[in-house]
Amino acid sequence: MTSTAQFAPAPASADLGVYGLGVMGANLARNFAHHGHTVAVANRSIERTERLMERYSEEGDFVPASNVEDFVASLKTPRVAVIMVQAGNATEVVIDQLAEHMEEGDIIVDAGNTLYKDTRRREEALRKRGLHFVGMGVSGGEEGALRGPSIMPGGTVESYKRLGPMLESISAHVDGEPCCTHVGPDGAGHFVKMVHNGIEYADMQLIAEAYDLLRRVGGLSVEEIAEVFESWKDSELDSYLIDITTEVLSHTDAKTGKPFVDIIVDAASQKGTGAWTTQTALELGVAVPAIGEATFARAASSSPLVRSAVRDAALDGGEQASGFDAGADRDEFVAQVKDALYASKIAAYAQGFDEIAAASELYGWNVTLADMARIWRGGCIIRARFLGDITAAYEEDPHLASLLVAPTFAQALERCLPAWRTVVATAALTGVPAPAFSSSLAYLDQLRSDRLPAALIQGQRDFFGSHTYHRVDDVDGTYHTLWATEEREEEKWD
Ligand code: NAP
Repeated sequence: MTSTAQFAPAPASADLGVYGLGVMGANLARNFAHHGHTVAVANRSIERTERLMERYSEEGDFVPASNVEDFVASLKTPRVAVIMVQAGNATEVVIDQLAEHMEEGDIIVDAGNTLYKDTRRREEALRKRGLHFVGMGVSGGEEGALRGPSIMPGGTVESYKRLGPMLESISAHVDGEPCCTHVGPDGAGHFVKMVHNGIEYADMQLIAEAYDLLRRVGGLSVEEIAEVFESWKDSELDSYLIDITTEVLSHTDAKTGKPFVDIIVDAASQKGTGAWTTQTALELGVAVPAIGEATFARAASSSPLVRSAVRDAALDGGEQASGFDAGADRDEFVAQVKDALYASKIAAYAQGFDEIAAASELYGWNVTLADMARIWRGGCIIRARFLGDITAAYEEDPHLASLLVAPTFAQALERCLPAWRTVVATAALTGVPAPAFSSSLAYLDQLRSDRLPAALIQGQRDFFGSHTYHRVDDVDGTYHTLWATEEREEEKWD
């Protein structure tokens, strides 16, 4: 039923406005109000605005508007309008509507999960019209939006001067510091949020692999695995994702009495940010195998026809039984999985930070990596104790070639490597898939190898496509071998 209610136009009294009052937008608006900001609120269908006012108007100072024009008119100048609607066409439509009523110096903030390339394009277009456009990542789900998210705003320094204090007031805080900072110009905020989500995919996949190995190889019950994860909270693995994993594994299905995890269909969905992170890494030429494998693992899990065909073909995998006895062996395996999880996690985060560094270099964003780790310590889905160590590592050396070489992490990897190899080998021998564990280990092994078979690939490329190669004794020279000649003559091309 369509409502006929209208809110009377209000004078310019709101500190900022939130347009789009779905789950995230409504909670973000309430969070601003809880922190003493006067918040204009509006939504395409007025029912959501009415509902917010009915339920929460007592919580703070809201200025409801019936349409975009009234919404913009209710904002103090320079105006700040935060959009929280679906990414893509919906965001495009709302930006156009807002811009039509805004003036030079006003600020439009897109707080949805928009692809950074769209943000760059929109920022350029709005800049030409004298408007500031801020692509802003918000992480923490609906609870975070209400109680304190991690916030990653891009855009101009000038826009952050106006926006920053309001955003910092509503963000999560860790050790008294806000989990919000100016990330960099144009698409930098949305880029960092995209990579945050990519890392989130990898972290979730790694935890899921640890669970699977403990259950199928280690022989632990779901209840026992929940206890193991609970105990890991007192270690370097302490994180929100470990916390919620413990909760999910401890939950019993009310209808069947079975562990809850056993009644959920084993097909993981995705909304696209993992794929974006992977595609972007491919474009930038940055290796992010853990993020890629996590994204592919969701796709593989969600391919029921292929899965059942391969299962029905009963391919003999020649896998071995785990051979673990309850007791000492099993406890040792649990400890090894813990080390493998931590080491893989270091590799996955290192890949994500490399991707941010590469984009920052390409687009001239000057993203401070230590600050990104700092604002992820609270509020967001990947919040974890070890982000404090990542912050410290990048503070000590902002130009680290890789997180893997920061002393804290290099030492941790060295300590974990034997267990990591055992776990990956055991997974392969017992036929339990561990794509993110395995690819993370292979990633490290690639980087630490003196020589890689990439030399052979260059030879192959030169053979079939004259793609040339460099010689180890003349790395600046470009060579091609005349493969068709008897002597395989070599030519120096420059
Ligand atoms: P939601 O509850 O589904 O709400 C969607 C909102 O978009 C509604 O207000 C809807 O208005 C509006 N909308 C859709 N199409 C529109 C159009 N063409 N013109 C104007 N408004 C339109 O979504 P949500 O979960 O709050 O998510 C909003 C954004 O936050 C998305 O970009 C999402 O990716 C991002 N985000 C979500 C989370 C999360 O945990 N949910 C976390 C971080 C970021 P009507 O009421 O009129 O339909």
